[in-house]
Amino acid sequence: MNLSTIYKNIIEPVVSIALPALCVFCQSQLETGRKVVCKQCFDKLPHLPLNFIDTLKDEINSAYFEDLYVVYQFNPEFKTLIHLLKYNRFLSIAKYFAKSLAATVDSQRYDFVTGVPLHPIKERERGYNQSFLIAGHVGNFLNIPFNDKVIRRVKNTTSQTTLNRDKRIENVKQAFISKIDLQNKRILLIDDVITTGSTLDACAQVLKQQGAIRVDLAALSTPMNFLQNNLEIEPAGLQIF
Ligand SMILES: [Zn+2]
Repeated sequence: MNLSTIYKNIIEPVVSIALPALCVFCQSQLETGRKVVCKQCFDKLPHLPLNFIDTLKDEINSAYFEDLYVVYQFNPEFKTLIHLLKYNRFLSIAKYFAKSLAATVDSQRYDFVTGVPLHPIKERERGYNQSFLIAGHVGNFLNIPFNDKVIRRVKNTTSQTTLNRDKRIENVKQAFISKIDLQNKRILLIDDVITTGSTLDACAQVLKQQGAIRVDLAALSTPMNFLQNNLEIEPAGLQIF
């Protein structure tokens, strides 16, 4: 473990526990058991217009998945929360987001829920996979099994955030494999943020190749200008603490 990993994984969470629990946005005191963001501020996160999701689905233009669910706009407040979840170990945020996601999908449709895997090296560095955390909570809320062994990421792809659409598709080619028999399975596949959809689509392709009969995609958020080349969600952009 290098110094930065020690800070991120050990020191910072301890410091955060010692600090008074205030909402990251309005600074009000959080109710017992609540972490990071108060319910009022969380409920104010703007939802994505439904017609935009249709546009995004048309844009991805895939034969590998059926329905697409996206809940939030990628605005500055969402960006703050997803940063805290992905890079700062504020894991309780995954549960708040999962509740919103679970409210948008029909649980009767699925045999299980899964998430987009990280490459094992990246997962070891981060200590967790935020998509699995969200998917696990969604499974709990919907009372459907969560399976984190369906897809494996075999290529440690470079970050997608600075790549344009064509490069992203190229980047995730052959990045995922599955060796599990998925005959007649109906699967809900979850990721945190969807941009061009190339990562989720590559996973959906693998699931269909293994025999899945239905794959629906669910993501927390997408930027309204999803064709932009640079999403700027790397840790360097975080300036709140
Ligand atoms: Zn607040």
